[in-house]
Amino acid sequence: MKTSILKKQKHKLAANRNPWVFSGSVYGFDTVPENGEAVRVEDFDRNFIAYGFFSSESAITLRLFSWDENEDFDSVFERRIEDSLNARKVFIHDDTDGYRLMFSESDFLPGYVADCYAGHISLQVNTASAVKYLPQMKEALIKTLNPLSIYVRPAEELLKKEKIRFPEHCLHGETPESIIIKENGLKISASPMSGQKTGYYFDQRENRLAVAAYAHGRSVLDCFCYTGGFSMNCAVKGAKQIISADSSADALNNLKTNFAMNSLTEPETVKADIFEYLRHRQNDTAQHGIVILDPPKLAKSQQDVDSALRAYKDLNMLGMKKVEKNGILASFSCSGRVKREDFIKSVSWAAKDAGKNIRIIENLSQAKDHPISPFFPESEYLKGIIAIVS
Ligand code: SAH
Repeated sequence: MKTSILKKQKHKLAANRNPWVFSGSVYGFDTVPENGEAVRVEDFDRNFIAYGFFSSESAITLRLFSWDENEDFDSVFERRIEDSLNARKVFIHDDTDGYRLMFSESDFLPGYVADCYAGHISLQVNTASAVKYLPQMKEALIKTLNPLSIYVRPAEELLKKEKIRFPEHCLHGETPESIIIKENGLKISASPMSGQKTGYYFDQRENRLAVAAYAHGRSVLDCFCYTGGFSMNCAVKGAKQIISADSSADALNNLKTNFAMNSLTEPETVKADIFEYLRHRQNDTAQHGIVILDPPKLAKSQQDVDSALRAYKDLNMLGMKKVEKNGILASFSCSGRVKREDFIKSVSWAAKDAGKNIRIIENLSQAKDHPISPFFPESEYLKGIIAIVS
């Protein structure tokens, strides 16, 4: 294996298992590796630090995947998949067969996000190395899981940060246009090929149950509902009325299919920009026992953080005004760059401007199959609160 040497005093983060080494910390190479190639990483005094994947284009020059000098690279993909699967077995039970199997750095294999859809795998590739080692990853997935199919998609960053054009395609077997998965016992039709993300938002699984626990007898306004994850769980728990709103007509059609498949009464659906819809709704007096706000990522880069915080504030102010007295606001941010304390600050400003009091009664995070690496705080991205509005 080729070796990358770090600059003097620039090995500490890496030695403490932070998986990202930026270009400014890299002194050089004994032989320049190919883009994506796995390399041995040493400190300036030539002591072993870790193994990592090299990228010639990204600002993150090395993504570390092992701190064990005896790591057997030939079997690493297989072992990482098995480890991730065994970790998922601790909390994924028979009522759920759609889940995130591998979450890149959090599962010690940077570059890959693998989601399981009832035996089919949707694999997202994020880095040059993930593309380079795709044949090994494919073989390891087949050997360990024997999946019905593997569908591979490039992450947005692949072109932007690694300058790699990669067409999405079926890598193994045949991926159907839609797959019926089970989540918390509910049937859900998901499309790993054409849906958003890798097809479904698994990261809200537990939060859907947490919010639905308050739904009995309440009227629910589910904003940014996508295919109805929150709406359906609220229906199961006895919500008296549900409005599900999203800007995507495809998502709303999928939501209707999901409600029908589970023999649940179809909710009222609204196709609209939520910001406009909520502004418009300030003119009516109807209020809701639960308002759910689960917008898409509002800060895609560090420059967007301030405007994202303003958008969270506006959204939460508008949403909060539609909550009845002592009703529930369930509000989320999936922007990794927005810190929890700043998100909560924006909700507090919203409350002040809305003339409301709020009491946070639950702090929520991403689902268990999106584990957070303590070595890599960036792996925590989803934040949410459940609050009582009065
Ligand atoms: N709550 C969903 C996931 C939401 S993902 C679940 O539990 O599965 C974000 C959703 O916001 C997507 O469905 C997307 O179509 C929708 N969206 C994005 N921008 C929007 C906007 N301005 N107005 C309404 N919906 C929007």
